[in-house]
Amino acid sequence: MSRVRRVVIVGGGTAGWMTAAGLSKSLGPVLDITLVESDVIGTVGVGEAVIPLIKSFHALLELDEAEFMKAVNGTFKLGIEFENWGQLGDSYFHPFGPTGVEAWAAQFHHYWLKARRQGQETDALRRFSLEASMASAGKFTLASDPQPQFAYHFDASLYARLLRRLSEDNGVRRVEGKVVDVDAHPDSGHIQSVQMESGETIEGDLFIDCSGFRGLLIQQVLETPWEDWSHWLRNDRAVAVQTESVGAPAPYTRCTARPSGWQWKIPLQNRVGNGLVYCSQYLSDDDARKSLLDNLEGDPITEPRLIRFRTGRRANQWVKNCVAVGLSSGFLEPLESTSIHLIQNSVLRLVRMFPADGIDQTEVRQFNNETTTEIEQIRDFIILHYKVTQRGDSPYWIDCRDMEVPEHLAHKIALFESNARAVRENNEMFRERSWAAVMLGQGIEPTGYHPFVDNLSDPQLQGLMQQVKTNVARIVAASPSHQEFLRGYCAAGES
Ligand SMILES: Cc1cc2nc3c(=O)[nH]c(=O)nc-3n(C[C@H](O)[C@H](O)[C@H](O)COP(=O)(O)OP(=O)(O)OC[C@H]3O[C@@H](n4cnc5c(N)ncnc54)[C@H](O)[C@@H]3O)c2cc1C
Repeated sequence: MSRVRRVVIVGGGTAGWMTAAGLSKSLGPVLDITLVESDVIGTVGVGEAVIPLIKSFHALLELDEAEFMKAVNGTFKLGIEFENWGQLGDSYFHPFGPTGVEAWAAQFHHYWLKARRQGQETDALRRFSLEASMASAGKFTLASDPQPQFAYHFDASLYARLLRRLSEDNGVRRVEGKVVDVDAHPDSGHIQSVQMESGETIEGDLFIDCSGFRGLLIQQVLETPWEDWSHWLRNDRAVAVQTESVGAPAPYTRCTARPSGWQWKIPLQNRVGNGLVYCSQYLSDDDARKSLLDNLEGDPITEPRLIRFRTGRRANQWVKNCVAVGLSSGFLEPLESTSIHLIQNSVLRLVRMFPADGIDQTEVRQFNNETTTEIEQIRDFIILHYKVTQRGDSPYWIDCRDMEVPEHLAHKIALFESNARAVRENNEMFRERSWAAVMLGQGIEPTGYHPFVDNLSDPQLQGLMQQVKTNVARIVAASPSHQEFLRGYCAAGES
């Protein structure tokens, strides 16, 4: 086995620069890292909402939060507001933190279900969630006890720029230009070098394919198959546009279901990102563009941009001496903002399993197994949103509602329908509370609840519900507005 020292990253989008930043921070002194990107080809340019686990990646990079927020025009994100998903006119919040108090045997929603069934409780679940209540009030703080759990919204191109600076500071060499050819070993098939349009040849021991949907190395050279998931997740396009801000930035992402897809709204400090994700079998590109433009709150500041995508995963993400990270490795639509998280985990996994003394197939298999399990778990959570709709007002939603889902997901839904049991398996990323938030939010009425709840007398249950609401309301009342907090903490353009 030959030693691995020279790493070549092909692509400088979010995946490329996250890989460069993570590898150079962890293993910089022992590696020689080159990143190749083409300004002419550009990046996908979207990907502006994330989940709380990104903080562990930033901790690895020793990235100061306020500095990061300033650099990327960032805002805070407490969760996602889903509108029109269960039924037209409905809404629910998927918060990042726990709702109410949790007993080890039964999450809070069991208490809420019993109280509601007895007629004691009429408030929606969101009133018991600190994050959801803070979001509805447009507030944010880091000074409360407990603190809300949060993630960020940011400008994708500024984020790549920030990561590029960190990577270059850690010794990463950046080469601008187009890769026009790839040289692979005639016997082993291992990639040996990439050829630039300028004539330069860049040799490497390990190649990271961050070239986006085109999969320049993993697909075009190594011909690794793609497993298609469009029969479950039928959306295949998005049209995106940026608008001027209207009012203060909300501390949450909004996902509004439309007749043939859904629309996102992601507020930054200086502008708002919007997009309509849809399925081309149900909606034409012209109608999608019109629908998006008709449903904006501020004036557009960019031309609407069409993005085509494929939902699925690469059969293997690590093949020979090439590791695919980002869109080249698989894609799940942005409904729960999980793609950047998958990039982060691939980078951390690669650092953990870095083949310094040569590529070992057992490690490669482990890498591929972990990556596959992770994306499939998240896939099922995203399919859930489509399956448990009750909408019957358009062919798109009827087909979503009536589709066959993976057996495992069908089992999870059935478990919840009977005794409100939400399960988290094999340390999957979405916890019980996330599964419960979506299933209850979209109108599943479980038949039962956990008997643990009956340990409380009716007055005790009533007292618990009241206490949770009062605590949440007290913290929200004492918190500054999100806008005010941003001004004091990380206003962009101020040093
Ligand atoms: C509509 C939509 C919305 C999304 N929203 C979110 C979200 O809210 N949250 C989230 O986590 N994720 C989101 N994502 C996913 C997220 O955008 C991507 O995961 C992320 O941007 C990573 O992309 P990438 O770096 O893999 O690819 P790209 O951004 O496409 O970058 C590819 C890079 O490869 C380079 N390249 C390609 N070919 C060559 C060549 N021949 N020579 C040299 N360089 C080359 C390009 O120049 C570019 O630098 C969204 C995706 C879509 C499609």
